[in-house]
This record gives sequence, structure tokens and C-alpha cells, in this order.
Amino acid sequence: MTAVSTETNSSLSATSAHGTARADAPLEKIALETYVPPAKPSLIGLSRSEIAERLAAIGVAPAQRKMRVQQLWHWIYVRGAKNFDEMTSISKEMRAQLDAHFTAARPEVAAEQISNDGTRKWLLRLPSGDSFEKAHEVECVYIPETDRGTLCVSSQVGCTLNCSFCHTGTQRLVRNLTAGEIVGQIMVARDRLNDWADRETPSGSRLVTNVVMMGMGEPLYNFDAVRDALLIVADNEGIGISRRRITLSTSGVVPNIVRTGEEIGVMLAISLHAVRDELRNELVPLNRKYPIDELLQACRDYPGSSNARRITFEYVMLKGVNDSLDDAKLLVKMLKGIPAKINLIPFNPWPGTRYECSDWDQIEKFSEYIFNAGYSSPVRTPRGRDILAACGQLKSETEKLSARERQALRAMAMTD
Ligand code: SAH
Ligand code: SF4
Repeated sequence: MTAVSTETNSSLSATSAHGTARADAPLEKIALETYVPPAKPSLIGLSRSEIAERLAAIGVAPAQRKMRVQQLWHWIYVRGAKNFDEMTSISKEMRAQLDAHFTAARPEVAAEQISNDGTRKWLLRLPSGDSFEKAHEVECVYIPETDRGTLCVSSQVGCTLNCSFCHTGTQRLVRNLTAGEIVGQIMVARDRLNDWADRETPSGSRLVTNVVMMGMGEPLYNFDAVRDALLIVADNEGIGISRRRITLSTSGVVPNIVRTGEEIGVMLAISLHAVRDELRNELVPLNRKYPIDELLQACRDYPGSSNARRITFEYVMLKGVNDSLDDAKLLVKMLKGIPAKINLIPFNPWPGTRYECSDWDQIEKFSEYIFNAGYSSPVRTPRGRDILAACGQLKSETEKLSARERQALRAMAMTD
């Protein structure tokens, strides 16, 4: 058991199964669904037809609704308006009526951290819906690069799955985010970066250009909200980030993979991490439900994939566990026939983990083998490690760290 997972709450199944592959170990924790929407709901996250329904409910005449929806959509998703007062093309009376019933509120920013490499991490506070319970928290990370800016978005508070190398998996509190809370993360990033369409950015172009569903949580265990949110993010009369610039990463929820292609149409990334079921069962316990063969078949069936729209296979490099050249050979062999690229992720350590990152020359050898076999094999540069913003390090502050853990984190940030 890891130092962090000892915090397990009795209302959830024990997380002691990390990687131990006990036959009776639970695959998943049970999600807490205590969310109760606030009395005055936010319009963020609703589709156009849902907004029209809400307008009907407050007495907006049928002939006006379509125009009002269009105006709201533009003010909220193009201009980033935070309240109805700013929406000057809407009559004063109408604005007051909207304000009496709705908000354009996004998640509250509880903390902002800026890494020395420019990566920014926001801790967002969300209602738990229960006054006895602490507010829920998720993290959202912005990673600027020369030619793009990628926002790493969370889909759940915590995660019900227990991948043995992932920090998020040790978090005991779990709830699905609403579509509004998912879209709200992009809104918060644009707010904080001053990145709305009518405002000047230093480069003259948008700062958030790409979205990856690679934050906390398993997006395909919150399918409907993730779908509704991403359709809003991709809408070209609003936020307008095209589907080719949105990537959804899954640990392999097979039944929802084809649905992702059909109903959302975004780019797909698969957290593969192992080439044999025995090892994958240990690293990604969901593999016991959906083994590698079924996962790869779902990838072959993924609608819209082609050599121009390849599926990314993520592979975390764990020293002495999955990083041999035999693993690389099998990886190349098993991906034959799938339009694929392979993304090698150096393991990001966290306090209490029993894994280590592969040595750099081993990562290079592995990468070279894959490259020579005809695959692009970029190694993902760890970003924002000093603020624990790198892959798999996300875990909200609701999970208080012990003094020893904090010390370990600080030590890691300095030596990485
Ligand atoms: N739940 C989804 C998406 C979030 S995790 C999934 O598992 O795909 C995003 C990526 O980070 C996944 O590929 C995940 O396996 C990887 N990851 C998790 N913990 C990590 C760690 N400690 N170091 C490096 N990558 C990690
Ligand atoms: Fe959940 Fe993904 Fe972490 Fe696995 S790797 S525990 S699916 S967030």
C-alpha cells in the first residue's frame, strides 16, 4: 500500500489494490454522486436547445428564443462575458430577467501556480452539493509551447480506477464533473490568460489552441458530460477549438471508444503502457475487464482514424517493468495495421510510489527501435514537475499531504 492510499475512506472500496493484482481486489471505487446544482444555475455547459428550454421556462416568447440563444452563445463563448450586464446587445429588461434566474459562473479558482517553465496550474473549487462535505476540487493545467498552447482538462474529481503508477488513482473522493464544469475549465484558462477573442494577446493569436482530456479522471466513465462539453468546445461559433485539436485519453473503456468517434469525433489516445495482459492487469487494472485484444479491436474500429488522424498510444516508461527492447518489439508488432503514433511518457514520480522512471538511455533505445520501425515516437517532455502539474501527478489539495509527503515532493521537484 502506498503512503497516500492509507487515507482511504471507509465509504469507498479500499485502494490497497494498486498493482498488487489480488484476485479479490476491486477494479474500481464507487463514485460519490452528491452533486446538487446551485439554486441559480450557470448557463455554461448547456447546449443551444437546452438554453432555449431554460428561456422558455422563464417566459421568453417563442419568436425571441432563437435570437436570444445566439446572443448568449456569442457573449459567453466568444467574448467570455462573466455576467449578463456585459451583454450590451441584449435589452436591459431581458438582462435583468436573465440575471434573476441564471449566471454565467465558472468554477472558482482556489489557487494558481506558475511553474518556472511557464506551465500554469489552477486548482478549481466546485460545489459538493452537501453543506457537511468539503468543497470538491480539481486541477487544470496550461502548457505553453512555441507553436501551440495545450490545456489539460479534468473529467472527474479523482478517479474510480486504480492504475498503480498514477497519483490521481489514489484519491479517495470521486465524483463526475458536469458538462459546465468541464467547459468551465477552458473558460477559466481563457479568463486567467486574457485569451478571449476581443482581447489582445502578446502573440496576437489565441493562447489556448489545443485541449487534452488528460487531467484527473477517466473521461469515458463520464461519457455524456464529456461529450456535451467537447461539442461546445469544438463549436465554431463559440470557443472554436477544432476536433483535430482535441484529444481524449482513455485507459481503455472499450464500449465507449467507438462512441467517442461517432458522437464526439475527437482525436483518441489510449493509455496502453504494457504489451502483455499480465503486466497491464497490474498497471491498468481495468485491463481485467477489457483486455488488450478487445482494446486494439476497438481502435481498429475507431471511426475517422486514418494516417492523417492517427491514434496515439501512450506508454509510461517504468524502469525494469515495461521498458525492455522485447517490449518495444512486441509493441510495434501489435500495432500493425492501426494508424498509430506512440507517445513515450517518462514516469513522473510522486510520494509513496514504488515505481521509478526508466533511465534516459533506455528511453532513447526504446524510442529509436520504434522510430526505426516507422512510428513517430516523441518522448513527452515532463512539464511543470516543480508544481506537480505533470501527467499523473494531479491530486487536489482536498487530500491533505502529510509533512513527510510534502518534504518528498519538494525533494523531487529539486532533483528532477
Ligand atoms: N484517465 C485517463 C486520462 C488521464 S491520465 C487515462 O488514463 O488515459 C493521462 C495520462 O497520464 C495517461 O496516459 C496516464 O496513464 C498517464 N499517467 C498517469 N500517471 C502517470 C505518471 N505518474 N507519470 C506519467 N504518466 C502518468
Ligand atoms: Fe484514472 Fe487515468 Fe490515473 Fe488510471 S491513469 S487512475 S484511469 S486518471
